[in-house]
Amino acid sequence: MAALDGLPPLRDVIQRHGLDARKALGQNFLLDLNLTQKVARTAGSLEGCTVFEVGPGPGGLTRAILALGAKKVIAVERDPRCLPALAEISDHYPDRLEVMGGDALKTDFEALAPEGPVKIIANLPYNVGTQLLVNWLLPKEWPPFWDSLTLMFQKEVGERIVAAQDDDHYGRLGVLCGWRTDAYMAFDVSPQAFTPPPKVTSTVVHLTPKENPIPCAVANLERVTHAAFGQRRKMLRQSLKPLGGESLLNKVGIDPQRRAETLSVEEFCLLANSL
Ligand code: SAM
Repeated sequence: MAALDGLPPLRDVIQRHGLDARKALGQNFLLDLNLTQKVARTAGSLEGCTVFEVGPGPGGLTRAILALGAKKVIAVERDPRCLPALAEISDHYPDRLEVMGGDALKTDFEALAPEGPVKIIANLPYNVGTQLLVNWLLPKEWPPFWDSLTLMFQKEVGERIVAAQDDDHYGRLGVLCGWRTDAYMAFDVSPQAFTPPPKVTSTVVHLTPKENPIPCAVANLERVTHAAFGQRRKMLRQSLKPLGGESLLNKVGIDPQRRAETLSVEEFCLLANSL
């Protein structure tokens, strides 16, 4: 049965183009177009938006983004086997899908961003997902070039992204995300929804940039969280010793006996600004 967008079912696309999933490329494909639409809808209205997608694969999520009215999709895919399948989608939606072959980690998304709203939507390859997210969170200028990130991760990563102080999942990623964004987990996706099924549950996380995050040098924040969470079971006077230990903590009025996971994002910024 043909899909609602008039393009062939994804199973046929995969078979015709010989896209057997490769583990090394984190390939777990979503073949249910209702589910890919649910992921894309999490990004809100796409009318008039340019959407960056990482790893379109056979194009299930790409098709949903286009069907929901994105003005343009710019997709970066590392596996050259997927490019002919994606070219069929480009033909179906003239001038609305640009596919770039290559590594998303080496792609300068900001340089490619046009005027107007930009959203990033992706079912990320598990092996590079966290690094891509961190890259999108680190620019000097804030707010960044993107208006929102709607990203599928392994659930454990999603929990680290949205974690706040006193949460077991709270760590460097939670501080970075909490500092610059408002983030929430939208919904879980079971392994059976993917072909082939991964070992663990996935989750869709939606992040929007905070307009006025606490002014703080990223490099200093990274130094503090790296040291503090590198020895998360230790008291801060011990874990932060290389950065000044007790005297640094006393300077900003933080009890040296506390542990990293009890500190709020604001307190981490305070420490970073006192280095
Ligand atoms: N978007 C498709 C879907 O939802 O069915 C595929 C998602 S699959 C989890 C991840 C995709 O990312 C694969 O198509 C894989 O080839 C691609 N990929 C892996 N590493 C990449 C990288 N460094 N840069 C760009 N694409 C990458």
